[in-house]
Amino acid sequence: MSQLIPSIKVLNLNIPTPTGNSPIHPVLLHDEDGYTLVDTGMIGQFAELQATLEELNVPLAEIKRVIITHQDIDHIGNLGALLDAIQGLEVWAHADEIPYLTGAKPLIKFTPERRAMLPAPVLALADQLLMQLPEINIDRTLADGDILPLQGGIQVIHTPGHTPGHLCLYLGEQQLLLAADELRVVDDELVGPAPPATPDMPEALRSLKKLTSLKMDKVLCYHGGEFIQEPEKRIAELSEKSEA
Ligand SMILES: [Zn+2]
Repeated sequence: MSQLIPSIKVLNLNIPTPTGNSPIHPVLLHDEDGYTLVDTGMIGQFAELQATLEELNVPLAEIKRVIITHQDIDHIGNLGALLDAIQGLEVWAHADEIPYLTGAKPLIKFTPERRAMLPAPVLALADQLLMQLPEINIDRTLADGDILPLQGGIQVIHTPGHTPGHLCLYLGEQQLLLAADELRVVDDELVGPAPPATPDMPEALRSLKKLTSLKMDKVLCYHGGEFIQEPEKRIAELSEKSEA
């Protein structure tokens, strides 16, 4: 894991794939009232998540809330386990993502093809999570432009396309964008969302435009990690390309 500034820690969890490990990066924010976890890792990774938190000396009970950037299973994978383990844990998510997170609508990308790719023990845990979803209470419904009372004010940016309620979080004080899956770092370059995993690519590219007015030193992508080489310029380029 790496530390951007003392109150922000980037976790480093690994998803094994046929071509090697694929790292993913939930983020842990520390504020006065405790910790906020942004995304929870892949299904089946709870032990790894717990070990990472232990290394950081973060007791589970001090995690007060989870912000879910979107419904994909590598982001909500340990939500059920966290809710079981932490009393009073709050869940915050964008309004358009809530029907999926509470099981009212099926997860968009958890298709039979995707299920078939998971090893049997992970699939069993996935089914357990799906059964838990209807019990999940969303404590705070997030909307575009909301300023969250964390880290000096975090701006919610609704960036649909990858999923309907996908969101990015902008930490103005730190000039840091938590891009979730709206941006990725691939071979040291900042790129847009992954086409095969983005059902509405035109919408996702329009969403990129919303990021072009932000002052930033750093982007943190859930897939690919930190990008610091003039991210504003690169995001402007990507959004111009999307117009072409
Ligand atoms: Zn993802």
